[in-house]
Amino acid sequence: MLNKRKFYINGQWVDPIKPDDCNVINPSTEENCAVISIGSKEDVNLAVKSAKDAFNDWAFTSKEEKINLLETLYSNYKKRWADFANAITMEMGAPKDFATKLQAGTGASHMKSFIRYLKNFEFEKPLGEHAPNQRLLYEPKGVCALITPWNWPMNQVCLKVMPALSAGCTMVLKPSELAPLSSMILAEIIDETKFPPGVFNLVNGNGETTGNALTSHPDIDMISFTGSTRAGALISKNAANDFKRVSLELGGKGANIVFKDADPEAVERGATRCFRNSGQSCNAPTRMLVEKPIYKETVNKLIKFANNFKVDDPTKEGDHIGPVISETQFNKIQGLIQKGIDEGANLVAGGLGKPEGLNKGYYVKPTVFADVKNNMEIAQTEIFGPVLSVIPFETEEEAISIANDTLYGLTNYIQTQDQNKVHRVARKLRSGMVDVNGAGIAVDAPFGGFKHSGIGREAGQDGLLEFLEVKSVGGWS
Ligand code: NAD
Repeated sequence: MLNKRKFYINGQWVDPIKPDDCNVINPSTEENCAVISIGSKEDVNLAVKSAKDAFNDWAFTSKEEKINLLETLYSNYKKRWADFANAITMEMGAPKDFATKLQAGTGASHMKSFIRYLKNFEFEKPLGEHAPNQRLLYEPKGVCALITPWNWPMNQVCLKVMPALSAGCTMVLKPSELAPLSSMILAEIIDETKFPPGVFNLVNGNGETTGNALTSHPDIDMISFTGSTRAGALISKNAANDFKRVSLELGGKGANIVFKDADPEAVERGATRCFRNSGQSCNAPTRMLVEKPIYKETVNKLIKFANNFKVDDPTKEGDHIGPVISETQFNKIQGLIQKGIDEGANLVAGGLGKPEGLNKGYYVKPTVFADVKNNMEIAQTEIFGPVLSVIPFETEEEAISIANDTLYGLTNYIQTQDQNKVHRVARKLRSGMVDVNGAGIAVDAPFGGFKHSGIGREAGQDGLLEFLEVKSVGGWS
């Protein structure tokens, strides 16, 4: 079992002030794979102080110096790529190939992308030709608390750490206590890259003690949070006391509208996007809305597809899915599958219990419910497991209305060959992202949601702007 009890504060690995152990459980073996510490209020105070002390120098460090450090960080990340992938497989159960290509891969893509945006970003510019002596200065927001979940660990951490460093902010990262190991490798490479002490700090811990201490700390200027809607609301309340900026990336319940002229791969592609990462993606298309004329054949395709969808040990190579993160999450998913059955949805594939031959580990069967009504709990709650709800529709208006009938508004999907229809529907969907015919959302496109899916945007230029204040200066010549 790995001993990962130390925190990274002020450029050093330090012991917690009071020992408070927490085991990290490998979800494919159900065994402890590491022990970390839960950071106390005193540990958080130390880390915030170190970030505050480092702020004045880092905020005024030249763009060239920052670019040099970030390029070295990116190169160090690539050297440890396999370590990141292995840590992610162990901490949250993403299978080897998926962990390497996508989980560790997205972290690297965001690093590369933010370095490009930093190079091109103008931190000082005129308001416009009409007002040449009016100057806009973009300045770092300050000391940031970065709080991340376990489902895409390096994607989410890099989406925060990279723009915060680029903007000139200093920070305390609190990764998920369920999947902290990849973040600790990131702290190792930040140390190796020799960022000035205090610019980046890492304190492990849970939401109740460590997260709460961070989000209520008076010296934190901004909280960038990714996680559940429940925690997002609690954090916003803490932040309101002293007007901290809050950026929230929360849950989703994406609709995938499959029109009768969808391309032949649309149905399988949609199910794959729902099941991949064992259904643990905020932007997963978990409600498939299917136009009536192709409804029956679509359900038949989905039954076949789900029954053949492989679930297996994440240490094996291949394109299977692994377990879900924890026993709690496994039980929650089982409860929601039971709820779907009780509500009268038609369970056509998968269902309760573990897949055959996988008795140890938190494995869930790829599950499809047909004839779902959008007011059922399985259509409204973010299940965060490989569970797809299929809902029939008759008209374009009805499909849009079902898609929008949710508290969330993160990503919706459209499948049709008719570009006029694409434009009409995409404009009416109340979500931060719309993915058409599997095109995907670019790594640097603004990522974030409407409604209960959050506030603000990550990635690319919008992601960098989140960590900046703009100052207007009149009389600059
Ligand atoms: P979670 O909210 O339980 O935990 C996320 C992080 O917040 C963890 O680090 C946790 O320790 C911390 N935390 C929990 N309660 C807190 C509190 N009161 N104060 C401060 N910190 C607190 O979420 P999770 O179960 O780890 O992650 C799954 C959720 O994340 C899903 O709802 C998913 O949709 C969402 N998510 C959203 C996006 C997005 O970009 N929109 C991306 C990935 C995941």
